[in-house]
Amino acid sequence: MKIESVKMYKIAIVPGDGIGKEVMEATLEVLDGLNLDLKYEYGEAGDEYFEKNGVAILDETIDLIKNSDACLFGAVGETAADVIVKLRQELDLFVNLRPIKSYPGTNSLFKDLDFVIVRENTEGIYVGQEEYTKDGAIAKRIITKEASERICNFAFKYAKDNNKKKVTAVHKANVLKKTDGLFKKVFYEVANKYPNIETEDYYVDAMAMYLLTKPQTFDVIVTTNLFGDILSDEGAGLVGGLGLIPSGNIGENNALFEPVHGSAPDIAGKGLANPTAMLLSAVMMLNYLNEVKNADLLADSIFNVLKEGKSLTLDMGGNSSTMEMANEIKNKLLERL
Ligand code: ATP
Repeated sequence: MKIESVKMYKIAIVPGDGIGKEVMEATLEVLDGLNLDLKYEYGEAGDEYFEKNGVAILDETIDLIKNSDACLFGAVGETAADVIVKLRQELDLFVNLRPIKSYPGTNSLFKDLDFVIVRENTEGIYVGQEEYTKDGAIAKRIITKEASERICNFAFKYAKDNNKKKVTAVHKANVLKKTDGLFKKVFYEVANKYPNIETEDYYVDAMAMYLLTKPQTFDVIVTTNLFGDILSDEGAGLVGGLGLIPSGNIGENNALFEPVHGSAPDIAGKGLANPTAMLLSAVMMLNYLNEVKNADLLADSIFNVLKEGKSLTLDMGGNSSTMEMANEIKNKLLERL
């Protein structure tokens, strides 16, 4: 019998607050069923950590993530800006990748969606450079050629590697002539290197409508920070809500995967949280680590449980707990191993 050698990965685990802890526990239980050697190192961050220690995340935790192959992150509450925005900047996680996919058994508005939003994660309006003026306040929106180039390069390479036909740029270059004018120009410069991939660009307001009227026509959408943030949540709404949507924050050297939802204090501690978004974030992590077979097996097991519709959490109309749904997904993958 051929024994496949298994590579060891060091994974930083940051469960965070509220349902972050619950969906993380459920996800680690499922990952335990795969043929993988994952060495977990735990870090603390978030509201609870802040209440006890006066800081939301320690430099040691940031270093732990820096020195790992990838990070799985649950969710934090009010301290999100001090934790996740800080991590994105300190680790230079310049891509925020959000797959928007319809799954069976969910209350997705469309049955056939499968696109990704590639959001620039480090600049734009989120540089946080605001100041009061005599008349009110102003915020800087910074767009650089370098950051625009690397996000557009990522989007086109992602399209090529994943057999996607088209990349759509979203901007507001008719009004923001200098900043978004630059983003649009760089987009088409990068596009020249990928003659086999179709391109198009839309103003963000039109795009907000097209995501509702013709979402099936999109493959890869690339855009600046705030527009990406807004369109990503619109995308989540298209396919059935927050409990289902994973995300990846990816840089040159590090990557952090997290569900799009927050700590959901209203349902925390009750075993009601849907683990799907966290589990799909783990699928993204496995693909990032090039563990494609394991990623596909986990994705198929999640898909099958959603399709069967017997072990779903309350938000999806079921009556299973977080752990019951996770265990059913684990059973499905053990059947296939
Ligand atoms: P935070 O302050 O941490 O952002 P929040 O409650 O404002 O928390 P979310 O955590 O994103 O924001 O949750 C918004 C709503 O969606 C809540 O009512 C929550 O119950 C629901 N929700 C979020 N995630 C899930 C999940 N995984 N399973 C079920 N319901 C969820």
